[in-house]
Amino acid sequence: MTGDRRFRIAVIPGDGIGAEVIGPCLAVLEGALGRVGGPRLDPEILAAGAGTYLAQGTALPERTLAAARAADAILLGAAGLPDVRYPDGTEIAPQIELRFLLDLYAGIRPIRSIRGVPTPLADQRAAALDFVIVRESTEGLFASHGKGRVRGDAEAEDRLRITRRGTARVSDAALRLARSRKAAGGAGRVTCVDKANVFASMAFFRKVFDERARQFPDLSGDHLYIDAAALEMVRAPWRFDVIVTENMFGDILSDLGAGLIGGMGFAPSADIGDDHAVFQPCHGTAPDIAGSGRANPTAMFLSGAMMLEWLAERHGEPRAAEAASLVRQAVDAVFADGMRTWEIGGTAGIREVTDVVLARIAVTGAPDDPMPASP
Ligand code: ATP
Repeated sequence: MTGDRRFRIAVIPGDGIGAEVIGPCLAVLEGALGRVGGPRLDPEILAAGAGTYLAQGTALPERTLAAARAADAILLGAAGLPDVRYPDGTEIAPQIELRFLLDLYAGIRPIRSIRGVPTPLADQRAAALDFVIVRESTEGLFASHGKGRVRGDAEAEDRLRITRRGTARVSDAALRLARSRKAAGGAGRVTCVDKANVFASMAFFRKVFDERARQFPDLSGDHLYIDAAALEMVRAPWRFDVIVTENMFGDILSDLGAGLIGGMGFAPSADIGDDHAVFQPCHGTAPDIAGSGRANPTAMFLSGAMMLEWLAERHGEPRAAEAASLVRQAVDAVFADGMRTWEIGGTAGIREVTDVVLARIAVTGAPDDPMPASP
């Protein structure tokens, strides 16, 4: 019986709304797992972020890093605050450090519309978007994080680094994702987004992507320059299936993608490596709404669902995948039924969204489900 199985989850609440949405997310995941009689979670709450930096002088304590390494998966809220900075002026960002330290090279950012959540695009096709941005997360311009140089208050320099190994493995991740989406009816296409017309590093990225794409003859691969990709994501985003791109480009396109599906509160993400993975919403700590209860926890819930899916695949635990789809179905159902969060003009905040999603999980699939409702 899979119900006996337990997964150790390193839980990093972080700062601002990150710390507010993570508890509700655990409640939702546990509710869904309970509903399917699936494995249990053993969460360990760990310190990291701007508050931790102020209190301990480090944003990512050794203990947190060790526990994250030892866990089955890492669930992160959001970290960093605009007025807590390192001496060089950059923000506290343990989430970026984790990507490098744990070698989490594939940043998976699904851009999936939820029925009932308004999109800024007038075309009806924008109401049914379903594509994924795969952001390289261990090199590119972000490889310069913490290493940029300012000389004599006259010039500053950050370096963009692309390697064959880094590009090949993220390309493979995107191509495998497109293949599994194709098996479920997807287009089977990966679009490499770069700036190969201007930078040697980007021409190299494209070359390595093309080499890898040739190993997947069942898929089609194409290219767009980053500027054209930004245009197409607004003009006709329904044409995309899987996008693979450099770290900084992926950072920017992810926020653009989140904007297409209602805002940051709806955009989940996963940073996946060969041995570890961090699941966190695309949004930051949103200091403008922190403490008000108005944050939308949906992106956090959907990130948690991605974690369950990843655990399911990695450990052969189909019930964790069932719980993930329960979470997704419940989220879809409550928005289709008219729930509206603050950032889309409604009044539902963390508490209401959590209560309504939990209630929906308790009844979703009830008619032909042999499992009893949650106790
Ligand atoms: P970071 O640089 O860490 O990604 P950021 O400063 O770019 O963060 P966010 O903290 O993501 O930005 O906030 C951007 C905007 O989106 C803010 O106006 C914020 O209130 C809003 N926002 C972010 N997350 C949510 C959420 N979960 N619910 C509602 N609004 C949100």
